[in-house]
Amino acid sequence: MDFTLSPEILQMKAAVRDFITHEVEPAARRIEEEDQVPDSLIEASRALGLFGISIPEEYGGLGLSMVDKCAIFEELGQTINGYTTILGAHNGIGSVGIVTFGSPEQKSRYLPRMASGEWVGAFALTEPEAGSNAAAIRTTATKKGTRYVLNGQKIYITNAPEAHVFTVMAVTDPYRGAKGITSFIVEKTFPGFRVGTVEKKMGLHGSHTAQLYFEDLEVPEENVLGQEGEGYVNALKILANGRAGLAARALGSCQYLLDRSTRYALERQQFEKPIFEQQIIQHYLAEMATEIETLRWMTYRVAWMADQGANVIKEAAMLKLYGSEVYNRVADKAVQIHGGIGYIADYPIERFYRDARITRIYEGTSEIQKNIIAAQLKKEYAE
Ligand SMILES: Cc1cc2nc3c(=O)[nH]c(=O)nc-3n(C[C@H](O)[C@H](O)[C@H](O)COP(=O)(O)OP(=O)(O)OC[C@H]3O[C@@H](n4cnc5c(N)ncnc54)[C@H](O)[C@@H]3O)c2cc1C
Repeated sequence: MDFTLSPEILQMKAAVRDFITHEVEPAARRIEEEDQVPDSLIEASRALGLFGISIPEEYGGLGLSMVDKCAIFEELGQTINGYTTILGAHNGIGSVGIVTFGSPEQKSRYLPRMASGEWVGAFALTEPEAGSNAAAIRTTATKKGTRYVLNGQKIYITNAPEAHVFTVMAVTDPYRGAKGITSFIVEKTFPGFRVGTVEKKMGLHGSHTAQLYFEDLEVPEENVLGQEGEGYVNALKILANGRAGLAARALGSCQYLLDRSTRYALERQQFEKPIFEQQIIQHYLAEMATEIETLRWMTYRVAWMADQGANVIKEAAMLKLYGSEVYNRVADKAVQIHGGIGYIADYPIERFYRDARITRIYEGTSEIQKNIIAAQLKKEYAE
């Protein structure tokens, strides 16, 4: 295994770091209070190529390998999670379906505009009655001539208000269960498409999560993504692909929290000495550092395996599970080490603490990751 980063990727990491430090971080308070990422930051992100991370070079993207992608996501994880979720969802679940299953025509129509960030991508699977049990979706897609007509509702869709292109799962054959689900590429301008309420959330401010309504939504037949009946399997593959990126962003956030906590422990004096001198604080930091290093190795190993074309369903689920649980433990310890100021909104620690919580829920809960791992184990040991 070789995780050595090329000079180009190191340069890009440095550019991202510089952008985060000088432009994103200073906007933190405003983003938190207004629940809105300023257009200027989105524009600057476009200029840096951050909307094209997952898209092949022939379609105007950066065509990064999974290892390189994780290196950039790790850097992005060090800043406002709401901002990085916009990029994470676009580059992950929002565009990977078209990159992986799209026809040449679909790729030519969508990917160049997605790579430039002109068109933001989103992924719409979850419904009121179908969360963890995604195969239970009720949105229907009925063929009428050269079109499919979609009816139904999606909830909790990241990037929904800003996105132009949605990968949408709907039922084309209600008698075939999961095998009756098909994925579609839906544009927000298609007749019958409507964005509903934007949810207020505990964290991830700046990233918008909203409902979608399809009321006789007309989708041309050429916008079926992959084969009819393969939408559920495609959705699982898209989600598995997104897991390494999500873990890499969690890794960056953990590293940020360790850096801040260590510096704070060395500076903060109580009982006439730095709190770092208390063995329990040293142990908190040692536990954080050890888990972060483990997560780093797992992240790059899974990314490297994916780059070799290996089936990483089990490993990606383990990584998503471990990464999100470590992020929550690290954020909790960071608040504890900071004491009162760790709970105060003027200081970034409480924001990371709130933002960490969603990682155990979206793109498959921790419980569901355990189910996936166990199912893979059963397969391996039963064979
Ligand atoms: C901020 C945010 C952004 C999101 N973005 C998107 C998006 O872009 N696109 C999209 O399609 N969805 C998105 N989601 C939806 C998200 O993926 C789901 O919320 C998640 O999969 C859980 O589904 P649920 O909320 O219906 O919980 P439920 O499925 O109702 O689960 C509730 C609890 O029961 C547990 N549980 C359920 N079934 C089992 C089981 N079989 N075994 C063990 N435990 C189980 C769960 O782990 C959980 O603890 C987003 C959600 C949020 C909050």
